[in-house]
Amino acid sequence: MKEKRVRVRFAPSPTGALHIGGVRTALYNYLFARQHGGDFILRIEDTDSTRFVPGAEEYIQESFKWLNLPFDEGVGVGGDKGPYRQSERRDIYIRYVDQLLADGKAYMAFDTPEELNAMRESVANFQYDASTRMQMRNSLTLSKEETDALLAANKQYVVRIKIEPNEDVRVNDLIRGEVVINSSVLDDKVLYKSADGLPTYHLANVVDDHLMEISHVIRGEEWLPSAPLHVLLYRALGWADSMPAFAHLPLLLKPEGNGKLSKRDADRLGFPIFPLSWTDPKTGETSVGYREADYMPEALVNFLALLGWNPGNDQEIISMDEMIRKFDLEHCSKSGAKFAYQKAVWFNHEYILMKSDREIAELFAPIVKAHGVDVSFEKVVTVVGMMKNRVNFVHELWELCSFFFVAPTAYDEKTVKKRWKEDSPREMTELMHVLEGIDDFSIENQEKIVMDWIAAKGYHTGNIMNAFRLTLVGEGKGPHMFDISWVLGKEETLARMQRAIKVINQL
Ligand code: GLU
Repeated sequence: MKEKRVRVRFAPSPTGALHIGGVRTALYNYLFARQHGGDFILRIEDTDSTRFVPGAEEYIQESFKWLNLPFDEGVGVGGDKGPYRQSERRDIYIRYVDQLLADGKAYMAFDTPEELNAMRESVANFQYDASTRMQMRNSLTLSKEETDALLAANKQYVVRIKIEPNEDVRVNDLIRGEVVINSSVLDDKVLYKSADGLPTYHLANVVDDHLMEISHVIRGEEWLPSAPLHVLLYRALGWADSMPAFAHLPLLLKPEGNGKLSKRDADRLGFPIFPLSWTDPKTGETSVGYREADYMPEALVNFLALLGWNPGNDQEIISMDEMIRKFDLEHCSKSGAKFAYQKAVWFNHEYILMKSDREIAELFAPIVKAHGVDVSFEKVVTVVGMMKNRVNFVHELWELCSFFFVAPTAYDEKTVKKRWKEDSPREMTELMHVLEGIDDFSIENQEKIVMDWIAAKGYHTGNIMNAFRLTLVGEGKGPHMFDISWVLGKEETLARMQRAIKVINQL
């Protein structure tokens, strides 16, 4: 048998911001497609008009742009199996609704909400299925004339799948193995509503997966309960032979305790749950996204890749190319993956270290500029190189490094008390003369000359260095002293020292 071309889809419903779990699902689909030289498709499942949220689709597209996980086909890209937005495929679904009705695989049900409620009240655990459908008002219990009369009168109805009871339905899941469910526990799910002329999720999802020639349905565990119904739908539509393979990914769990990761956990523990910031159009509430929280997309992707999958060992830092090469559904776990968000911070730190100083400087330079500093890019690169190992996020560099760019105007009181001795003004004035005489202002040369001077004078190294630091930084922090003076250059170093001696003496 000829192997089917690998075609996978990410099929979000535009009901709000994309949850980080959805990003993980999309990532696994992307890796799988890339590995097999297949297609990664974006389909928008917007048949539930009551849950449609404006802006959500654009948000989804922008998210994947930022994450650098491009689609090959679908909404925003195009392709020859479109349209890829389900709301634009009404006519297609109607054809299959008609086919199912004609083949006796589905039926029309006219029960009003009141009638359904009455049933729910009188029958314990009521379910619309083989055991109850013959007591309901549908095209199976009504005569052809009665049904036609209701249709002619424009009465609203739904189309339900007719599930035959007592049959073991098998779902072959590439992660979970064979999952068997007896059809008697399933209900006759609604496939179509005449009220809006739209199919429900189940029908649209199956029809589209078939027509778009999807080879593998890789999605979250929350869709596993729908899989037996989907298998039955494939059969009812006569497509059993070309059914896609299923793989249901493990749940993302709360960082602590049990249960599924929720926005509430994220808010409480202070980490983002969405890739990009999102303002809820109803409540006006804004949630900060990973992008705005200053995560690098590569770091986030690496973190997410390992939530439910591993490369067969405990390797953690994995490049995109390597992930594409190594990804496999066999190494996806069945059990839920704890969303250890501190690990995402760690990944971001590691990616800052891995990237070149220039790459990080590209990200940091705009922050420096936003603080009104006009400085050469080369200087930013140098400072980044000295300081990036101390931060988890690029924006943290400013707090740590601003003294490289902006001379101190005030001097930290505590540090002054502790570090500025009686002899400091005189010693610093002497040091200024020593530095002034140095032609080669390299780190090594400065260090050698200053250390020789300290030794010759019999000064206390700690006292000198602490006071020197205070004059250049304004407080007691920062890297190696001569790194600082070298970056500042001779002129700026001397100017800062002079100002410090004057200002601190007047305190
Ligand atoms: N529209 C569903 C969702 O929002 C798609 C589920 C699937 O991938 O089949 O996740």
